[in-house]
Amino acid sequence: MTYSDLKSFIDDKMRMSHIYQPAMIIKLLEEGGHCREREIAKHLLSYDKSQINYYKNITNNMVGRVLRKHDVVSRNTSENVYKLNGYSELDDEEISILIDLCEEKLSAFLEARGDSIYDHRKKSSGDISGTIKYKVLKRASFRCELCGAPADEKALEVDHILPRNHGGSDDITNLQALCYSCNAMKRDRDDTDFRPIKNIYDHRKENCIFCSITDAGIVASNKLFVAIKDEYPVTKEHTLLIPKRHTESFIDLTQPEMNAYSQLLKEITRDLENEDSTITGFNIGNNEGKAAGQTVEHCHIHVIPRRDGDTEDPTGGIRKVIPGKGDYITNE
Ligand code: AMP
Ligand code: ZN
Repeated sequence: MTYSDLKSFIDDKMRMSHIYQPAMIIKLLEEGGHCREREIAKHLLSYDKSQINYYKNITNNMVGRVLRKHDVVSRNTSENVYKLNGYSELDDEEISILIDLCEEKLSAFLEARGDSIYDHRKKSSGDISGTIKYKVLKRASFRCELCGAPADEKALEVDHILPRNHGGSDDITNLQALCYSCNAMKRDRDDTDFRPIKNIYDHRKENCIFCSITDAGIVASNKLFVAIKDEYPVTKEHTLLIPKRHTESFIDLTQPEMNAYSQLLKEITRDLENEDSTITGFNIGNNEGKAAGQTVEHCHIHVIPRRDGDTEDPTGGIRKVIPGKGDYITNE
């Protein structure tokens, strides 16, 4: 390979399905043209954000926490920097003795426990193909299927619902997306089926008016929530935000539903204000239970646009749900 062969390979011929080819060539170029496969593998690993996030989490919440507790290290949180306490007092020989001692401890531990210390990592990623992983993450809308954390906040891993060592298959029906924190909590011996958590979003109740909303009635929506106009508006543009899943209670909404709700609330109120300049405020809230006035037994949040002068005295707003009790006099 001449310089121009290599250049034209990189420029024109290299068909990339991942970052691997240029990453491997960089490593070889940087290491004088030859490099052990283990070093190349480590270099490829350095591009994998999900692995780095996983080990950042371990650094801060596991090893870093223990070493901080024993005053071995301290952490500058604004710069995310760890400092070995007392390092400046060590001479070169002492540093070398301490490194050797750590190496000894590492080897002894690995000898006693073997590679099984990484089994929980193998379990999570295994050798499931990239295509299947992508399908699982897409099916989960790139959110953790347990806590709802989005992929850009917490690295997601593909987990075997029934672990392999319990006979679980690599089929997509046995896979779920979990963030590294939820996945770390789940151990091989645990064969909890998390799928019901995902399946609850499909729950609909027969004859429920809010379970049978048609596309025509929907003014805005996202994966888990819809917005419709209230059939009997209290004020013009009175809108209802409704979870797609049938559930009576606002309090019982899952975190992903809460996220979907707040996203839709922002969108709807912004659109209403843009479309109707007379809107100067909102009453936003739900009637939780019959005693609180709920009539439709499928959770919904009222977004009631308010306009200057729409009532004689708006003071107190939702405080006035109990007639005669809304007003109060301050001591000021
Ligand atoms: P709540 O009293 O909080 O249960 O509110 C129920 C809300 O649903 C009321 O504001 C009604 O006006 C509204 N509503 C009832 N039936 C429909 C319907 N078919 N489409 C849209 N809104 C409805
Ligand atoms: Zn319903």
